[in-house]
Amino acid sequence: MPHANPALASEQEARDVAEAARESEWSGPSFVRELFLGRFRLDLIHPFPATDPEEAVRARPFFEKLRAFLERIDSDMIDRTGEIPEEYVQELREMGAFGIKIPTEYGGLGLSYSSYVKAMAMVTSKDGSLTALLSAHQSIGLPQPLKLFGDDEQKRRYFPRLAKGAISAFALTEVDAGSDPANMHAMATLSDDGTHYILNGEKLWCTNGTRAELFVVMARTPDSVVHGKQRKQITAFIVEASWPGVEVVHRCRFMGLKAIENGLIRFTNVRVPRENILWGEGKGLKIALITLNTGRLTLPASVAGGSKAMLQASRWWAMERVQWGAPIGKHEAVAQKVGMMAANTFAMESISELTVGLAERGHYDIRLEAAIAKMYNTEHGWRIVDDALQIRGGRGYETADSLRARGERPIPIERAMRDARINLIFEGSSEIMRLFIAREAVDHHFKTAFALVDKHASRGEKTAAFGRVMKFYPAWYPARWVGKGQVPGTFGEFGRLAAHMRFAERHTRKLGRAIFHAMVRLGPKLERRQLVLFRAVDIGAELFAMTAACVRARMLATQGNDKATALADLFCRAARVRVERLFEDFYGRYDAQLYQLAQSVMRGEQAWMEEGIISPLEDAAEESAPAHPSNHLTTVGD
Ligand SMILES: Cc1cc2nc3c(=O)[nH]c(=O)nc-3n(C[C@H](O)[C@H](O)[C@H](O)COP(=O)(O)OP(=O)(O)OC[C@H]3O[C@@H](n4cnc5c(N)ncnc54)[C@H](O)[C@@H]3O)c2cc1C
Repeated sequence: MPHANPALASEQEARDVAEAARESEWSGPSFVRELFLGRFRLDLIHPFPATDPEEAVRARPFFEKLRAFLERIDSDMIDRTGEIPEEYVQELREMGAFGIKIPTEYGGLGLSYSSYVKAMAMVTSKDGSLTALLSAHQSIGLPQPLKLFGDDEQKRRYFPRLAKGAISAFALTEVDAGSDPANMHAMATLSDDGTHYILNGEKLWCTNGTRAELFVVMARTPDSVVHGKQRKQITAFIVEASWPGVEVVHRCRFMGLKAIENGLIRFTNVRVPRENILWGEGKGLKIALITLNTGRLTLPASVAGGSKAMLQASRWWAMERVQWGAPIGKHEAVAQKVGMMAANTFAMESISELTVGLAERGHYDIRLEAAIAKMYNTEHGWRIVDDALQIRGGRGYETADSLRARGERPIPIERAMRDARINLIFEGSSEIMRLFIAREAVDHHFKTAFALVDKHASRGEKTAAFGRVMKFYPAWYPARWVGKGQVPGTFGEFGRLAAHMRFAERHTRKLGRAIFHAMVRLGPKLERRQLVLFRAVDIGAELFAMTAACVRARMLATQGNDKATALADLFCRAARVRVERLFEDFYGRYDAQLYQLAQSVMRGEQAWMEEGIISPLEDAAEESAPAHPSNHLTTVGD
């Protein structure tokens, strides 16, 4: 049986905390939101957002310095030693790399979000540890929440320091609070004289934490009472590393990103002035979620940048390496990897550029697009590194230092693979992204009809829900059966890609119907059927990716680059096969059996299979300090 830890939040509490922090209103239209409702609103993303030529001119001097710096630095040394030399950091400070988006009036470069993510893509193509340093500071560290939620005084006080390179960090995660913030223990209580908060607690895996001057710390403040129920409050504080009571307890080391400055940070009776609250008491989790909505756009772009580097190395080696009488790229098994790599990289960059473009254009709610971009690009990016390693064969597995020592080109695929794996976990793991997207995907149906199947709903709520259902579904549902995608020749402006757009339109309607049917068939149980929900999310993600790729290819074609059409075409052919398979197995032919078997395995009923091994649990159990209840390793069957 699992150990019940009274310090941990119940499932209901976890959901309540997440729901309270959720943005329940839509601040603008969203292509993906409409897509999950079965409506293919191409007008929302077509034509592809244009880039600003003046911004390119403004950004050029910075990009020239950044490129020259990256070409010169020794990233294998950074990886080998696990340290970024101070002179590298200083050079980055001097070129403004810590204040790319900070307005010029505060001493920043004042460049756009799209310039910022392009810079991160370039950095990633060379060095993941440097991306972690710069993006933990600018995507989630103080500059981003300060820009969005800081008051004028806070901006005046902190922006100039940040722009000059005062490194910042974002401290949300704790030992018990990973993807579930309801388990947060860090606590801030108001001092008797009301001028300060007294902060206590520990934050885990805080990137930049070991080098930071400034932290954004999420901590609980006293519970509020909402509708007679206690509700956990989480508040965001700006904390200076130099204040008494702030301590780096441990520097964490990882499989990759060897030089990431990441640590366990302890706060003991730290006096935080009241004016250092960001936005307001109780708004912390909302700040974290909103900051991440745009903050998580860095990863999709940087993964696309990293993938381009993998593609370049792979295509070179596929032509260079001759085995069995031909360059390996002439063998079909290798050729298909290079082809898919190129097509997928194009689609990933399209998703990223589109979403960033929409965010910059404004009046558009990008939270679903950003979540898909994060999930889709990190997962595809991971497969790309894996394929690149396979194409390089043994050389892919060998370290760059070892290759160099033998006189071979030191292409760091092995390092890229180690660095890339975390992308599927931090800034919202793939599973949490799917849950987040699924929650929003069913939101409209939920708001309209849920009371009808909710056993706790009152008679009045059920009557109101019935009224809403009768108003919405008689028009919405039949309209999901007919559309432009059924008419040959439509979307003609997309030329060779028109058939893919018709497919996307038809399958968007099919997805809307499928989600509705699932709600009717499974009722409230749908919430527990993660695999069904995740298939719906994956179909939505594929349709978004297809549309983004076609719309961008079309834009490029109008600018005279028709090469992208072949990339978009191949990407869409492969995505269509995936969409069809997902629909075929929408309810999962063996989901229930799989779940039952998994529970049986976790109860230890299949532990007989584990005979003949040295248990990884035994050694680790002896070594691990029982510092915290959740640190105890339990053997299967406990
Ligand atoms: C290198 C690195 C850098 C980081 N930087 C920062 C930082 O700067 N600031 C910060 O605050 N945090 C940071 N983190 C923390 C990171 O964001 C967390 O690791 C992440 O939120 C996941 O939490 P967890 O690892 O505790 O996993 P858990 O939440 O314990 O999850 C474990 C697994 O279960 C899955 N899972 C959990 N809940 C569900 C569910 N309801 N349904 C389905 N699947 C579920 C997860 O997807 C995951 O696969 C960093 C972590 C690392 C390793």
